[in-house]
Amino acid sequence: MILPIYVYGQPVLRKVAEDITPDYPNLKELIANMFETMDHADGVGLAAPQIGLPIRVVVVDLDVLSEDMPEYKDFRKVYINAHILEVMGEEVSMEEGCLSLPGIHESVKRGDKIHVRYLDENMVEHDEIVEGYLARVMQHEFDHLEGTMFIDHLSPLRKQMIKGKLNAMLKGKARCSYRVKTVK
Ligand SMILES: [Zn+2]
Repeated sequence: MILPIYVYGQPVLRKVAEDITPDYPNLKELIANMFETMDHADGVGLAAPQIGLPIRVVVVDLDVLSEDMPEYKDFRKVYINAHILEVMGEEVSMEEGCLSLPGIHESVKRGDKIHVRYLDENMVEHDEIVEGYLARVMQHEFDHLEGTMFIDHLSPLRKQMIKGKLNAMLKGKARCSYRVKTVK
């Protein structure tokens, strides 16, 4: 089922999300719905707060990029109770967008290597060092679990430049091809 995506201004996007237990109701269905919602909106990642749930569940699909980055062929993963333990490596700038911030694309500086801990869909724990593009996507998505959005990383000047678009979202105006839930 395709779910509406919560847009900037929705309080759930500013909450610190909670870990879940293996008996979380209908978890398999929730994950399937998150993948479907992300695919429909042409996203590479979606965090549960973006569909209104303050829990630590993230889906990522990098297969869509595998023509340019063959290492991500068939890469579709679920991250449950995900936590970043450390951001390392070199700081790299790259343009980002977010399904909860339609129409905004800005360059964001992030470390290119991270140490993460999470559970997969079978509730098996993983402790990994992740590098490259995936490390960026994970930082963007896991930020959502802390109530952080990529625009929080921008300089005051860039923030000023996108103020009009953000204010429009607060008034319920969001231009995109997928269904959204604005505050108004
Ligand atoms: Zn996002």
